[in-house]
Order: sequence, then C-alpha cells, then structure tokens
Amino acid sequence: MVTLLTYAGDVPADAPVLRTGGLPLVPGGFAWPDCSECDGPMMFHAHLPVDEGVVSVFMCQNEPGLCEEWDPAAGGNRAYLFPRDAPLRAANPPEEGETLLTVVNGLRPTEVPQPEYPDALEAWTEGGNDRRDALGQLAGTPFWLQGDEHPDCPGCARPMDFAAMLEPGRDYQSGMNFGGDGWGYVFTCAACVRASFLWQC
Ligand SMILES: [Zn+2]
Ligand SMILES: [Zn+2]
Repeated sequence: MVTLLTYAGDVPADAPVLRTGGLPLVPGGFAWPDCSECDGPMMFHAHLPVDEGVVSVFMCQNEPGLCEEWDPAAGGNRAYLFPRDAPLRAANPPEEGETLLTVVNGLRPTEVPQPEYPDALEAWTEGGNDRRDALGQLAGTPFWLQGDEHPDCPGCARPMDFAAMLEPGRDYQSGMNFGGDGWGYVFTCAACVRASFLWQC
C-alpha cells in the first residue's frame, strides 16, 4: 500500500492541515531559521501533521543551488518536529529574503494498493486522475530517485522514520525548487523530537 499525497485544492495560508506553502505554524519562542551557508532567512515549504507530530520544512532559496539545500546536514535546509499537543500559531516571516512560496497547496492522503510509488502513480492516473495532482507520498517506504540516502538521527544516530516525500508542485508557479524535477524527503525521530529533510533529482 502506498499513501499518495494528492492535490486537495487551495487552503488558507494558516490551515492546520497537510499543505505546501502558506505560513508555518510554530510553538511560542520559535525563531525563523537562517541558512548557515548564506545567513539569509530560509523559505517555508511545508506543514505536515503526521503520526509523530507536526513537521515543518524550511529550505534556503536566497541563492538557489549555492547553499547545499539538498543536504540534510549542511545547513541549507531545516526541518522541525513539533509535539502534537504543543499549541501552534502562525509565524510572522522576516521582512527581507525569500521566505514564502507564492501558492498554497492542500494535500490529501490517498491510499493506493500498490507496492511502490511509481506503481501507485500509474494506477492512480489510470483511474482518470491528473498526473500533476500527485504531489508526493505519506509514510510507508521511500522510493529513491537516486541511491538510498536514508538519514540517521542527529540526536540518537538511529535510522530516522520516513514521514513524507514531496514532489515540486503542480506547476512552475506553485513549485518548490528541488533541482528541477527532484523530490524532497522528510524524516522524523519521535524519541528525539527531530526531523530531517533532503532532496534528490
Ligand atoms: Zn542560503
Ligand atoms: Zn533520534
């Protein structure tokens, strides 16, 4: 079984639902992350309520391609895991820098009884759905575009749990920049309350 993330339409920027774009929902005392390569503020990419908590994904887009944004540990992206019971509210983005995507895409979990993402995609589109509306995968087993880069937790060094895969978006306007047609991969460690993000293309 593969759980696709399919397009669920336009949702409010601060909706507490699975989405890309809009505003991050964060706990009190949260500081918007800066890129450790260029020192500019990162761009908020995705709000992902998952079993382990709420994942919030940021990535630098101030100098696309120059900040090792694809690497889970280089400092060009940042993913957070917030506890599910933490009160979260919309953060104010910094005034300078590339901080927000232009389009908010709601995501709907859609179960497809197939073993891997490409098979699920094929079955789903053969069912009359638009390929552009398949926007990723929720949990299960990651399908790697390149080699397996499953990260170990920076806290406890155990392999992290796969939370989601994100495709760039439905079109150029709503798109996230994963090197063109790359995919982003999100992982969590519930024990350490941490998340990691990387992408491949
Ligand atoms: Zn940067
Ligand atoms: Zn850990």
